[in-house]
Amino acid sequence: MIAKIQQLLSEVEALKANSAEELEALRIKYLSKKGVISELMADFRNVPAEQKKEVGMKLNELKQRTQERIAALKEVFESQDHGCDELDLTRTAYPIALGTRHPLSIVKNQIIDIFARMGFNIADGPEVEDDLHVYTKLNFAADHPARDMQDTFFVDVDPDDVTRNVILRSHTSSVQVRTMERQQPPIRIICPGRVYRNEAISYRAHCFFHQVEALYIDKGVSFTDLKQVLLLFAQEMFGSDTKIRLRPSYFPFTEPSAEMDISCNICGGKGCPFCKGTGWVEILGCGMVDPNVLEACGIDSKVYSGYALGMGIERITNLKYQVKDLRMFSENDVRFLREFEAAN
Ligand SMILES: [Zn+2]
Repeated sequence: MIAKIQQLLSEVEALKANSAEELEALRIKYLSKKGVISELMADFRNVPAEQKKEVGMKLNELKQRTQERIAALKEVFESQDHGCDELDLTRTAYPIALGTRHPLSIVKNQIIDIFARMGFNIADGPEVEDDLHVYTKLNFAADHPARDMQDTFFVDVDPDDVTRNVILRSHTSSVQVRTMERQQPPIRIICPGRVYRNEAISYRAHCFFHQVEALYIDKGVSFTDLKQVLLLFAQEMFGSDTKIRLRPSYFPFTEPSAEMDISCNICGGKGCPFCKGTGWVEILGCGMVDPNVLEACGIDSKVYSGYALGMGIERITNLKYQVKDLRMFSENDVRFLREFEAAN
């Protein structure tokens, strides 16, 4: 019996386990109720009386050494699980979700980028404006319907002088006026910004939206120059096979005026519900700056001529991304905004 206990003692000292399962198997083999040590304990009563003291001490030693050995192996496992080698202290505690640019900002930046490469500078101006810069100097007649309460947000009304009414700008053309007042040609600017109109909010109209306007004034600027810029812009924005067409139109501040259509980028000009089967979609208004506007801003219309063009950023964004509801742009729904991750 002593010899067997000695053999088990050296066996226990050499125990090894490579996994928690292996360790548990060892515990069952040695320490469970039907384990090796319990069996020895059961045999203890057969030990001759004179050997009982010595065998009992050896048996207790075996049991204690086995418990210690298995506890030590367990500790090794647990410290391995949290081993410092495995820790990456540079990792953040929680994954950081990166924000995305707003689709209108993405498209605005694309438009600015195209015009910047053609030599246009960005001009900025106030959103709270006066009538003089939004309407009067842009050749709007005193009774023009755009001045009406139906369209314009009034901040302060001057009963004596309509040109001093304080309003929210209804187009970014006021920035063109302010630039022409300050600066003699050559002028080559692009004016991106937010504008306000007093309209009921629905999926296709909002009380504020965004525009980009461009203005070029110099000696000898002609409609041909305008058309060339329009074609280049359309092809840069919507692809090199995009076609444009110009339709006569009317704006108070340009003469002649035109509206530009591009070949529908969704069906490629074949006709689809988006372009109402025509193969063309309208994207912007443009024209040669009316001489009255130049004169009102202190520029000699006999020496200089120029063109202006303007577009809604929401409209261009819809064409690129087919956003059906205009209200999505101002609701800040992160599910909507995350769809533009790839476009950033
Ligand atoms: Zn189409």
